[in-house]
Amino acid sequence: MSEGDPLSNMLAQMENARPYADIDGGVFERLKHPERTLKVTLPIRRDDGSITVYEGFRCQFDSARGPYKGGIRFHPTVTQREVEALAGWMTWKTALVDLPYGGAKGGVVIDPRDCSDREIEAVTRRYTEGIRRMIGPEIDVPAPDINTDSQTMAWMMDTYSMYAGYVIPDVVTGKPLSIGGTQGRVEATGRGVAITAESAFEYLGREFDGADVAVQGFGNVGSVGSRLLAERGANVVATSDVTGGVYNPNGLDVPALERHVERSEGVAGFDGGDPIDNDELLRMDVDALVPAALENVITVDVAEELQADLVLEAANGPTTVAADEILIERDVPVVPDILTNAGGVIVSYLEWVQNSQQYSWTLEEVNTDLRRRLNAAFEDTVEVYAERETPDLRTAAYAVALEKVGAAHEVRGLFP
Ligand code: NAD
Repeated sequence: MSEGDPLSNMLAQMENARPYADIDGGVFERLKHPERTLKVTLPIRRDDGSITVYEGFRCQFDSARGPYKGGIRFHPTVTQREVEALAGWMTWKTALVDLPYGGAKGGVVIDPRDCSDREIEAVTRRYTEGIRRMIGPEIDVPAPDINTDSQTMAWMMDTYSMYAGYVIPDVVTGKPLSIGGTQGRVEATGRGVAITAESAFEYLGREFDGADVAVQGFGNVGSVGSRLLAERGANVVATSDVTGGVYNPNGLDVPALERHVERSEGVAGFDGGDPIDNDELLRMDVDALVPAALENVITVDVAEELQADLVLEAANGPTTVAADEILIERDVPVVPDILTNAGGVIVSYLEWVQNSQQYSWTLEEVNTDLRRRLNAAFEDTVEVYAERETPDLRTAAYAVALEKVGAAHEVRGLFP
């Protein structure tokens, strides 16, 4: 895991794409630096009466194309540099799928497994207070990420609205339906992964039906992604989470696994297959590997031994830059995170638009729009890949994104 932290990887990915992108040199230099990062201190009274002080961040990376947009992560390994990398990836993702947004990300250094629901609510509200001067429907719009969900968004929306004195649903997306959430948001990222998987198989001339897939991570993205991949005919043979992994060569019963995880809070102990550890899962001989957990899991060591024919990056930043070079050499295509997992921010955008119109759409309308936008981004990426002969799909996707963000900066000019 000593192959550069997420921020150095994100910056190296930008540099790799630079020769293939028509972007002004000055604008490119500027884009290597996040606009701002706020660090907040979060003292919380624990259930036993003691005080624990947590640390949180919100990074606003770039806003040339619109309000900042990006999720909030609660995880013990959160760092300022990780949040800044994730905010950069959001900038390239929103540009690639052509949403009128910039990029942002937030995080709190905390292990939610050590906290009660009340303590998590207190952290969420205190964090929201800490960053509330920099967020807002036209400024910066948070959403869920690792260990945060629609309940977290409800607490954020409530806290923000309490300070304003009136309800402001569109300050966050990924809300529960009862307070302005949209149909399809919970499934959106996983649905996007399944849509992108089908496009990638078709593009590579491979049969999707019956294809063996291994998915690392069984949270929001991994579980929904696994379920929808299986519904579309793929054979999800293995998955894992922080508690352990499970393997069944005939395909896992994903809905049964979801019920098991709900009951026992982890994949470990599921009796519908044999136990498998994360290292084995990443090296399995499958048609597609879908990392859907954390960054930097496909390292040089893994890349050298990886047997999957295709990698679909559902997580943000799962492949290090050094590992990418090996996968390019070994001719293993990687569909990059900024494309594969863009379904979440696309449907977040649709939620935000519905909130601002005070009008809600059907699930079918949401899913149709999601598919259209993802397919267009996939087409743009493979077109640049073919025409400019980029080394990989990531570089092509970055070239598309960098040009869009670069064009916005050029036409707006440099203030003052
Ligand atoms: P989540 O908290 O719902 O799930 C994370 C999963 O990863 C859990 O199953 C957890 O047990 C597992 N995990 C953690 N550490 C692990 C380890 N060491 N080995 C194996 N599994 C491990 O989070 P999520 O929302 O599903 O996010 C997963 C990834 O997808 C992240 O990279 C996130 O940034 C990205 N993503 C999420 C969204 C979204 O809408 N939620 C959108 C785009 C990208």
